Amino acid sequence: MATQAKTKHINVSQEEVDKFNELAHKWWDQGSEFKPLHDINPLRLDFIHQKINLKNKKVLDVGCGGGILSESMAKLGAHVTGIDMGEKVINIAKLHAQQSNIEIDYQCTSIEALALKHKGTFDVITCMEMLEHVPEPSAIVSLCATLLKPGGTLFMSTINRNLKAYLFAVIGAEYILKLLPRGTHDYEKFIKPSELIAWCRDADLTISTLKGMTYNPITDVYKLGDDVSVNYLVEVTKD
Ligand code: SAH
Repeated sequence: MATQAKTKHINVSQEEVDKFNELAHKWWDQGSEFKPLHDINPLRLDFIHQKINLKNKKVLDVGCGGGILSESMAKLGAHVTGIDMGEKVINIAKLHAQQSNIEIDYQCTSIEALALKHKGTFDVITCMEMLEHVPEPSAIVSLCATLLKPGGTLFMSTINRNLKAYLFAVIGAEYILKLLPRGTHDYEKFIKPSELIAWCRDADLTISTLKGMTYNPITDVYKLGDDVSVNYLVEVTKD
């Protein structure tokens, strides 16, 4: 099933997915390559929960990985579906949720396949740190719009494309601080907020909030604020 989905849909970089599959067993190790995702999770969960009470909401987490955000949303009462094209990644997510006694519908499937069956179904969609790993991120935004209920909200996060982002997110994080394995991010795939906003407009989505996330390597602390020059998050609504 998963293989079929992979060959049928072109908007997947197998090379990118393989990188995550190879490290999947470390997903929940907070001292591993996934430490940054663990560290930023309370911030992004707070960002989402301040906008929307997740209790009993039908939520889709696109490119959910091992489920760090999915689990935290489920703990707040959301009914979460998590999809990822990494088979090992999804297996880790399933195992961890089971061990934690959390119910989440994890599927190794593409967003294209899901959109065929579940148009206009989700109250909330999250797509975090994933757009910069796909060949055509604009198509993912448009499919998120299709999957959202009218009045629904989409939260996305990614990395800006400029010299500072290159120095911080690639040179700093991968080569100097070694927070992430070398080759995790491809500068060319970074996304300017203006580009993401344009894709949202094309999909009839309205941006309500744009927020930056900064990292202080001395204190090892992440913060949300107005500086969108490297990492940023958006809240987008469907009318
Ligand atoms: N959203 C998670 C994981 C981010 S890592 C979090 O922020 O905690 C990026 C994830 O996107 C990886 O698990 C990778 O397997 C997945 N991914 C990459 N391309 C994808 C695609 N086309 N469809 C679904 N998932 C994809």
